[in-house]
Amino acid sequence: MQISFWGVRGSFPVCRAQSLRYGGNTPCLEIDAGEAVILIDAGTGIRAAGQALVERGVKEIHLLLSHAHWDHIQGFPYFAPLHQPGTCIRIYSLRRPGTALGTIFADQQRHPFFPVALDQQAARLEFVELDEGQVVEIGDTQVSSRRLNHPSVTGGFRLERQGRTFAYLSDVDLYTKLLLGEGLQTPSAAERQQRLAGLLAGVCALAHGADLAVCDTFFRPEDYEPSWGHSRPEDALRLARDTGIGQLVLFHHEPHRSDEEIDELLAHYRRQAGGGLEVLAAAEGLALSL
Ligand SMILES: [Zn+2]
Ligand SMILES: [Zn+2]
Repeated sequence: MQISFWGVRGSFPVCRAQSLRYGGNTPCLEIDAGEAVILIDAGTGIRAAGQALVERGVKEIHLLLSHAHWDHIQGFPYFAPLHQPGTCIRIYSLRRPGTALGTIFADQQRHPFFPVALDQQAARLEFVELDEGQVVEIGDTQVSSRRLNHPSVTGGFRLERQGRTFAYLSDVDLYTKLLLGEGLQTPSAAERQQRLAGLLAGVCALAHGADLAVCDTFFRPEDYEPSWGHSRPEDALRLARDTGIGQLVLFHHEPHRSDEEIDELLAHYRRQAGGGLEVLAAAEGLALSL
């Protein structure tokens, strides 16, 4: 697998001199796995990814959507393969009770928000709603998804191919005591505890033994907000230690964080990680091979 980063910023895109090195586009990753081209999330990074895919003549694209918050879908209307006849885009995401996946994408391009409706685009679109833990085969890659503790219905992904494993864990507050996900609320404290434990077990199942994991590290300890559903680098390091992750990529950078601040965070958490765990910070243009 080769993992390429097209967008690494959380919440909203930024364009300013202090953030150019790590990049200002919202989340989009490309995973090249043999014949299959898999994208994860459709933030503004997907615009440049799409142009590159059209130039390469790619006609079949698989898009894994973690959730429908704006920073993860807002680039999709500008995704160049949408305008290519003979192209098939298959979109996968966890099932949302009461909201079809296709409706989420169609609504984003509905009048008066966008001039061209989704069903007028040239590409063929297919929507695959996943159940938790279900394994789908994309080419020779096995993909599974589990709920994450984040507002809305949010899924993380585990991709396995030829004995190598990649985990995508954004957006998530890994160790909070607050239950944040839509449809998970319950008045019973005991049940809430049980559901929190279940969510953490799901994250651990996605991350277990991963050669590479991309993890939400939106917050620094000093600006942590427990109700937002995002993690700190120390949470990601704890998960990495608990689950045997080999390489950890800090991701979904806070939009105001400058390149220098990300450099400082990275140096600090590399020292904390010690040997045995390699820590990187996601940057646009970074490509990693597994
Ligand atoms: Zn996000
Ligand atoms: Zn989110």
